Amino acid sequence: MRQGLFRGAPVKISYRADLRDTAGNPAYAATSIRKREMALDPTLKRHPKQHRRILLHEYFHFAWVRLGNPLRAAWEAFLKAEWQAGARGEAGWSAEWRKRKLTARDIDLRSRFWREYCCESFCDTAALVFGADCDQSEVTLAPGRCRARAAWFAGKFPERRFSI
Ligand SMILES: [Zn+2]
Repeated sequence: MRQGLFRGAPVKISYRADLRDTAGNPAYAATSIRKREMALDPTLKRHPKQHRRILLHEYFHFAWVRLGNPLRAAWEAFLKAEWQAGARGEAGWSAEWRKRKLTARDIDLRSRFWREYCCESFCDTAALVFGADCDQSEVTLAPGRCRARAAWFAGKFPERRFSI
């Protein structure tokens, strides 16, 4: 666990090839919140910065489920305002491919796809904000937007601590 960022029961980490996400696509990580475990692709061991980013992203999935509704709603509102302002790009591919498929209707209805996007964007953004030593090659969001997101995290989590 990193730098006191997370607190909670341990999460078991293992390495396994040929991981798939819930849609059946190849993935670098497969996480079970309920079982408190994550499996990572062993090739990540050869790419430390990407390894750290993915690990951090997965830890933030645990943080997201414990965040509570008010904070999740605040993040949704932040992303909605960003979307309405026409912001393009994202903090990572996981959020970005979802964002590209979003429609105004998803947002109006708070569809499952929109809520998934909000979760992935939270994890990708947190990995950017708290992962100074991580790979940032997937970041396509404009620097000003990244700073605004970092300011959101600083405002909501001044102690930089997340329950997982
Ligand atoms: Zn994710």
